[in-house]
Amino acid sequence: MEKKGLLIVISGPSGAGKGTICKEWMQNNPDAVLSISATTRAPRPMEKDSVNYFFKTREEFEAMIEENEFLEYAQVYDNYYGTPRKYVQQQLKEGRDVILEIDIQGALKVKDRFDTGIFIFIIPPSMEELKRRIVTRGTEDPNVILKRFSSAFEEINFIKRYNYVVVNDTVEEATKKVDAIIMAEKCRVDRNTELILQLQGGI
Ligand code: 5GP
Repeated sequence: MEKKGLLIVISGPSGAGKGTICKEWMQNNPDAVLSISATTRAPRPMEKDSVNYFFKTREEFEAMIEENEFLEYAQVYDNYYGTPRKYVQQQLKEGRDVILEIDIQGALKVKDRFDTGIFIFIIPPSMEELKRRIVTRGTEDPNVILKRFSSAFEEINFIKRYNYVVVNDTVEEATKKVDAIIMAEKCRVDRNTELILQLQGGI
């Protein structure tokens, strides 16, 4: 029986810890894949091209838009970010679960197209804690930190468009919750109609 993978979309304010949670979840779910986005943002010191992102110039990114290569793309904090379409569609077709760690604008575009996706919003335990995390990460200059922190207030207004909200108190607990959500979604009757039909038709 052919089984399509699940599309899991994870968003949340910068510093909420969504990247860490995704990586942690992936370690326990090696068959799933994390989509690598393209961006015009400059790489941070430890980031590698084709591993963390496909780093592109503005011209290259705009050419990709022209060629309809993105499942979604958005302008976030003055840079373009986009999800390459082919990779995601291929992985889902081959039955692998795909995680997209993308911003709200992108997530809402994906939601319009994939109503079977799972949309999870990660929030920090408090705004003070969020600020502490953005500052201690130390990868951005003060202007960028301020921009990201003030965006967080606006972003939280969009939680209602998501299916689930997970508070990131500790990475371990938050990852367990994400895992439980995905597990429960996989057990939904409407995701298992083929299996049920097969049982009904069986001897
Ligand atoms: P960062 O610069 O911290 O890596 O990412 C900034 C924001 O862009 C984060 O909220 C991240 O989830 C989002 N982002 C990363 N990749 C994509 C993408 O492909 N599409 C969209 N719409 N947002 C993305």
